[in-house]
Amino acid sequence: MSDTSIYWFRDDLRLSDLPGLTAAAANGPVVPVYVRDLSRAGEWIPGGASDWWLHHSLASLQRELAERSAPLVLRTGDAVEALTALAVEVGASTVFCSRQYQPWAGALEKALRARLNERNVALKRFPGTLLHEPEDVATGSGTPFKVFTPFWRACLRRPEPAPTLPIPALTGCNTDLPTDMLSDWGLIPEKPNWAAGWETLWTPGEAGAEDTLETFLSGHVKRYGNGRDIPAEPNTSKLSPFLRQGNISPRQVWHAAQASKLMHRDAAESIDKFLSEIGWREFCYHLLFHFPSIPDEAFNQKFAFFPWGKDASRLAAWKRGQTGYPIVDAGMRELWQTGFMHNRVRMVVASFLTKHLLLNWREGERWFWDCLLDADLASNACSWQWVGGSGADAAPYFRIFNPIAQGEKFDKTGEYTRHWVPELGQLPDKYLHKPWEAPLDILTESAVILGDTYPRPIVDHKTARETALAAYATLKEL
Ligand SMILES: Cc1cc2nc3c(=O)[nH]c(=O)nc-3n(C[C@H](O)[C@H](O)[C@H](O)COP(=O)(O)OP(=O)(O)OC[C@H]3O[C@@H](n4cnc5c(N)ncnc54)[C@H](O)[C@@H]3O)c2cc1C
Repeated sequence: MSDTSIYWFRDDLRLSDLPGLTAAAANGPVVPVYVRDLSRAGEWIPGGASDWWLHHSLASLQRELAERSAPLVLRTGDAVEALTALAVEVGASTVFCSRQYQPWAGALEKALRARLNERNVALKRFPGTLLHEPEDVATGSGTPFKVFTPFWRACLRRPEPAPTLPIPALTGCNTDLPTDMLSDWGLIPEKPNWAAGWETLWTPGEAGAEDTLETFLSGHVKRYGNGRDIPAEPNTSKLSPFLRQGNISPRQVWHAAQASKLMHRDAAESIDKFLSEIGWREFCYHLLFHFPSIPDEAFNQKFAFFPWGKDASRLAAWKRGQTGYPIVDAGMRELWQTGFMHNRVRMVVASFLTKHLLLNWREGERWFWDCLLDADLASNACSWQWVGGSGADAAPYFRIFNPIAQGEKFDKTGEYTRHWVPELGQLPDKYLHKPWEAPLDILTESAVILGDTYPRPIVDHKTARETALAAYATLKEL
């Protein structure tokens, strides 16, 4: 039997700490492949920003693999067909891969295994995306967790995640296999190139992930505990897009963070807080695995009856960052211009959409899906449901973020808001987060004409809050 195997890259675009690749390399020559299959994800095919990250991650992976004489094969089409065909072409005995957790992933793996088995090819699936497999963490009665704190406590009681794996020595095989050209996949926007300049902000791929983690753990992590909510400061890791496409594993993050705790004892609390956010990522995957309808349906079924509004102009104003609430507009513009938004501001804009504008969380989920570099089926859906009040362990619906107070508290100096909403740049701090309260002479001195250079608020905060609470009250009656 042939000892050649295929390594099927999925959301794990790296070479180190990849148990499936290590196993494949130990087996003999390896043909690495990435299949672009848009047939199974339905409406959750990756959005434009994710595609940008995918392109650059694949380009980086191609370079790394070429250096090891194991060139990456790119194929398009149904993954079952494409992988079976490739297995026949190279005479492979085994296809190795990392496990995935999207609602369609299990069925895909099952269909692939069946088709490969017909040709005496095995499918071997390994972990590689999470610290703990969803089946390994359960409540005392064996059910999935629905609340974060006991979930994370249970994770912390489990054995320490296994040590990370180095890049395995690879033996390539046939270098002349037919492959698509990455540039033909059209993952990079051209006309217009809305991602212009993103290369200066991000370095997708394994090396970029390692640098990002190292920079964070050797500096900013110390401010993480107290400063992670300040959007103007670089206190968070910005690892999410790397984790999303597997340029780094959570296990690598975990072990690097533990090592850093030993070196910077004064930062231990901050590091634990950071790791608990990695825990939120695990929790979201746990929920997605056990409750696969989470991206599409309210987890709390009562919310199926929520009287969501349908005002398209409000939705458009929110997307364009033209709501008249500066912190909300700053966040939405940061998202559009960089493919990222700070977590605190994500919460504020999500609350604004679902509560002030009474628009369905799914509208926000979809927009984020298209615009975020870290767009992740599990984290995006669970976070939207969390803010919207319908999720597992959700913020109660009546907790309505006040966009003025949030701006004043977390962007006290106005640095973040002035950067993204430059037309308010000259307004004094006192009025920056509520320009409509500024006297006319101050507006004039600051070159602000409300309704012209900057919109008036599209809803009144107090009225919107009361309307949202009244809508919520209709659920309580159910
Ligand atoms: C409405 C909304 C939508 C979101 N959509 C996404 C999404 O599509 N993809 C995504 O990765 N995160 C999402 N988040 C979670 C969070 O905002 C981002 O993970 C975080 O801002 C990424 O920045 P960072 O890497 O600097 O995070 P850090 O604070 O440095 O956290 C480290 C890592 O932990 C994980 N993490 C942190 N916070 C959360 C959280 N609340 N839920 C799940 N994982 C978390 C991320 O992988 C992150 O990289 C969303 C949050 C909200 C409120």
